Amino acid sequence: MIVYNGTGPSQKKRVQSVKLQKVEGHMLSHEQDTNLIRGKDDDLHRAAAANSAKLQLNAIHTITSALVRLALGTDDAENVDGQKYRRQHATRDMYKEEDAMSATSDSAESTAYWIEWFLSLKGNEFFCEIDEDYIMDRFNLTGLNTEVSSYSLAFDLITDALEEELDNESRTEVENAARHLYGLIHARFIITARGLAKMQEKYRHADFGRCPRVLCENQAVMPVGLTDNPKQKAVKLFCPRCEDVYSPPSRRHNGIDGAYFGTTFPHLFFQSYSNLVPQKLATRYVPKIFGFKIHQTAREQRKQDELRREQQRRLQGLENEE
Ligand SMILES: [Zn+2]
Repeated sequence: MIVYNGTGPSQKKRVQSVKLQKVEGHMLSHEQDTNLIRGKDDDLHRAAAANSAKLQLNAIHTITSALVRLALGTDDAENVDGQKYRRQHATRDMYKEEDAMSATSDSAESTAYWIEWFLSLKGNEFFCEIDEDYIMDRFNLTGLNTEVSSYSLAFDLITDALEEELDNESRTEVENAARHLYGLIHARFIITARGLAKMQEKYRHADFGRCPRVLCENQAVMPVGLTDNPKQKAVKLFCPRCEDVYSPPSRRHNGIDGAYFGTTFPHLFFQSYSNLVPQKLATRYVPKIFGFKIHQTAREQRKQDELRREQQRRLQGLENEE
């Protein structure tokens, strides 16, 4: 699990303030030591007072040299322990449990890149990484500024260019806007040649899951939206074998907006990668009671089969005409 420490190029200021806090904390602990001594003896008290003054001078010196180092630009972001200073707001997202788990995990890596962090969150497995070139080309983002609140801040966050210091409340707001914006760009990106290729990779690994229908024999599925308008319906899974849609089995995925994938994506995908369209299976499930077909259902199925045969005949007729 990757943890976002926010120490990207734009996060320098944050790192600097953290460093200063560290120095101040150091000073405070020395003062506490001095107070302990003070209670014991007057002589000691005087000595301690002198000592305290000296320590404070030392601390001031440390702060000054830290400031000088920062001013000279010799500050090295890598010196900061990413886990310790990773942004607290990361734990406030909708997948609280997962993030709590990652906080206790020793194997947590840290990242300074927002997209990398976003993709690593549990539940975001369906998303692919949008190419940087695609995001940077403002033409691709046309109209999204009206869809997303705090658009420019959200854009800066996604591209790791956020310079502004935000309080916790607006940080959360911008974070949510950034997720929404990423989703909307994602819907556009995955129907480009590059996006389709990236999703193909995920489809081949069955990253989106498999069809729950027994007769589909673990066919890999594709994410699809039932509408292109955001905040209407959660993402569904489309099975190219039975050509039906299913709700994702995981609760996490049920919270993802279907508009982040769109109604077009899987169908355009199988048009572009027609070699990946699975063979339709002729077998179908027949309900039986004590081994006998149930009359009503059997009749309906016969009707469906008849319709199918008729359609095939018509198609063949059309082909022959050509
Ligand atoms: Zn299926």
